[in-house]
Amino acid sequence: MAGFNKDIYIGLGSNLNQPHIQIKKALRALNNSRFIDLQDYSSYYITAPMGYDDQPYFINAVAKIQSKLKPLALLRLLQSIEARQYRKRTSNQNAPRTLDLDILIHGNLQCSTSKLTIPHPRMLERRFVLEPLLEIAPAVMIPGLGHVANYFPFVIQQQCQRSERILL
Ligand code: ADP
Ligand code: MG
Repeated sequence: MAGFNKDIYIGLGSNLNQPHIQIKKALRALNNSRFIDLQDYSSYYITAPMGYDDQPYFINAVAKIQSKLKPLALLRLLQSIEARQYRKRTSNQNAPRTLDLDILIHGNLQCSTSKLTIPHPRMLERRFVLEPLLEIAPAVMIPGLGHVANYFPFVIQQQCQRSERILL
């Protein structure tokens, strides 16, 4: 599609209300959006909660998309998908959630504003981001920081297990 040229990676996570279904629904929503070309997506990953331990396990995945939307418009679209799946925002960043959609990488863009920081500032610390990302894009680079694969050894001790393939 014309104008769809930057590779964009989206991180998906859920630990409430049947998380596998939340992730699948979100991928379908991306696939059905006329503003988005869903190109690939990882398997499901089962992840132990970080930060605040007394909550259910997460299901995580990463999707590769292309889009003509500017980054902030894309963030709003992702937030509208979260809202449709009844995401409630609380003050606790690590609280349980039905759906979290984050922009991880947006072509070679580097930006940091109050609403949006790309590449996602915490992605390199999270096995549940790096492993599904490397599954679909083994050679992927992070603008300004080099190969994602170089960061994987630092997160390998985290509990995160690859599960089944996602069938949309
Ligand atoms: P988190 O994803 O850290 O658990 P939220 O999903 O509640 O928390 O996001 C909080 C805010 O993070 C959003 O309102 C959004 O403006 C901001 N944000 C900054 N950078 C990004 C990004 N790369 N992807 C998604 N949201 C981002
Ligand atoms: Mg988020």
